[in-house]
Amino acid sequence: MLTQNLGYPRIGSHRELKKICENYWAGKTGYKNVLQVGKNIRHENWKLQQETGIDLIPSNDFSFYDHVLDHSLTFGAIPKRYNEVILKKGNTELDLYFAMARGYQKDGLDVVAMEMTKWFDTNYHYIVPEFQKDQPFKLFSTKIIDEFYEAKQLGITTKPVLIGPITYLLLGKEKESGFEKIDLIKNLLPVYLEILTRLDALSVEYVQFDEPFLALDLSEKEQKAYEYAYKEIRKAFPRIKLVLATYFEGLGNNLVLTTSLPVNVLHIDLVRAESQLAEVLAQLKENTILSLGIVDGRNIWKNDFEHSIATINQAIEKIGTERVWIAPSCSLIHSPVNLENETNEENLTAEVKQWLAFAKQKIAEIVTLKKLITNEGPASTFQKLEENKKALNNRKTSKSIHNTIIKERVANLKAEDSERKSPFSLRKIKQQQLNLPKYSTTTIGSFPQTAEVRSWRAKFKNGTFTEDEYNTLIAEETAKAVKWQEEIDLDVLVHGEFERNDMVEYFGEQLEGFAFSKNGWVQSYGSRCVKPPIIYGDISRPQPMTVKWTSYAQSLTSKYMKGMLTGPVTILQWSFVRNDQPRSETCTQIALAIRDEVVDLENAGIKIIQIDEPAIREGLPLKKKDWQTYLNWAVNAFKISASGVDDETQIHTHMCYSEFNDIIQNIADMDADVITIETSRSQMELLDAFADFKYPNEIGPGVYDIHSPRVPKKEEMVHLLKKAKAVIPGDQLWVNPDCGLKTRGWDETKKALIEMVEAAKEMRKNE
Ligand code: GLN
Ligand code: ZN
Repeated sequence: MLTQNLGYPRIGSHRELKKICENYWAGKTGYKNVLQVGKNIRHENWKLQQETGIDLIPSNDFSFYDHVLDHSLTFGAIPKRYNEVILKKGNTELDLYFAMARGYQKDGLDVVAMEMTKWFDTNYHYIVPEFQKDQPFKLFSTKIIDEFYEAKQLGITTKPVLIGPITYLLLGKEKESGFEKIDLIKNLLPVYLEILTRLDALSVEYVQFDEPFLALDLSEKEQKAYEYAYKEIRKAFPRIKLVLATYFEGLGNNLVLTTSLPVNVLHIDLVRAESQLAEVLAQLKENTILSLGIVDGRNIWKNDFEHSIATINQAIEKIGTERVWIAPSCSLIHSPVNLENETNEENLTAEVKQWLAFAKQKIAEIVTLKKLITNEGPASTFQKLEENKKALNNRKTSKSIHNTIIKERVANLKAEDSERKSPFSLRKIKQQQLNLPKYSTTTIGSFPQTAEVRSWRAKFKNGTFTEDEYNTLIAEETAKAVKWQEEIDLDVLVHGEFERNDMVEYFGEQLEGFAFSKNGWVQSYGSRCVKPPIIYGDISRPQPMTVKWTSYAQSLTSKYMKGMLTGPVTILQWSFVRNDQPRSETCTQIALAIRDEVVDLENAGIKIIQIDEPAIREGLPLKKKDWQTYLNWAVNAFKISASGVDDETQIHTHMCYSEFNDIIQNIADMDADVITIETSRSQMELLDAFADFKYPNEIGPGVYDIHSPRVPKKEEMVHLLKKAKAVIPGDQLWVNPDCGLKTRGWDETKKALIEMVEAAKEMRKNE
């Protein structure tokens, strides 16, 4: 029995990678220093895993930006527009790499970055490979070989990790028509064989191929490609032991295909799909080793040893100890690095901390599980089992987790709690008393979070400012924003969200059942890391969260001030979620807390309330067959949060980076009076789904892109609004930017919104 790890966090235990890369981009440090920090992180990770006792330690899991981009560079899949970057004197391979990741605007060159998208259903984003017809591939970067050699010099024979050829192709995008990316396998495979030849020469023993697409729905052609690719690899390298890693879902319909592939080790995810174990065991070919992904790579909870031991024994009974390995469910890049860095009791109490395991603790759990099974550990190993049982038991029975009032409230929810009092057709008439013009103008919530505003918060947190001083500054900033919105004649105002650090954290900090780490960073993309809140217990709202600031802002104006809340699905989606109850249950609890907030805002005289749900779509399960179940509870949670108010109160929702085609019925089911969406970058194309569906409620299609500092002209926005009006009746339309303005500067924000208000006025004139 061996233990293996599939990948270790590469950001460094104190985000060293972020710091060095950002310094390099800013021209504050040199190339050699960047390489050195990368090397240090790799060595630290390898040594740590070796000392912990992991048998198969991964290499090539390190990356300066993104591992999919690493592969594109390895395979020479470099779009032609980067040629000039390559040719520029003094540019290194690293400069080319960063140019592909972030674009290149220097020395008279202006080359755009490659596209980025979400890595399956995680919050990690990868750089999308670009493919041309007959895309050639050749070994360009030797990173994987170099890093294997580097570890070997340290006396560690690692298991190099490659994204498998089919998954790599399926992650990419066809940049021209006339071919299917999967057909490129014939061109791509020779590069894999060359890499293996080089690794073979260095006496590699195991190579890991990540093929998460085996856990998704596959076409027949894709299945065939799997058979072809692995047969060829096997044929060329009978000696090398191939580890095929699947994760994020069960094998489902691909069970027979996957178990028939000629590999030595099959890794399966038993956290996401525990129930697949029996069928995989039944189907597994003789001699194939089964790697049990039993320690959750995507969440922060301590493993349940007793439960895991039972699972491992189930496998051992069927196929014997030698054929069973223990592993995390997936790469640990989705886990924070080290729980030992959490020393601040204020953030994370000792009680909650004892329930958690970050990456460093997870690899120790894997080793302990092996020792417990094989009985080879010292006596203290059994003490670890006892400690584990104690911690888990403490969690099960803790008073800070269980709140019977909330549980009962959820249990007693009735169908009518998820419905507004009247249907939209009637609400629309009642809401006419709001007296809003046609093409009402508004913004999505946040105004620029300037360095100054952020510095106030930092000073308040470290004690330099008292609460009063901080609040005074925020109040002044809010008042300025309100006054300015009045001046430019926006119809529905916002308070600007200056008091908020983050749209989820701000609410989490005020709700019971949430905890926060100080250093629990997880890579989101490139140098960007996020620190998701930890939902550990039943959720309740001890007191109103936004009423004070919203009422204050409303008191400054006779126009409508829009209340601004984050919706239950988004709060759930962007947090680490408890694993001792279904996600749907946790989401419903959050929904009730938001519902109470909505009602309190209404009672405070707020007539328009927005509940943001940008994460609805990204919560969709990986397999289509599971979509409806998710959508049912997600939409219902939103409706619970929105339905406590009278018909006259107007509920808005907002979603960005979404496609709506296949979920438009569910969006309509949410029944928000107004939905604002991101549409400008697609030139209103995303609106078609609403038009085809004859979406009945009101819509604010974003008329300008907030991701860029560029100031749009009135005419451009009139053009987009006319396009919108061509498919959606004018009296259903609102006018707003694509999303919140927190990342923008004031200068461009002011100019853009003035143009936007003018655009709306022009539309009214033309009626
Ligand atoms: N109200 C939020 C804001 O304006 C919405 C952000 C989002 O959609 N991601 O910042
Ligand atoms: Zn948005």
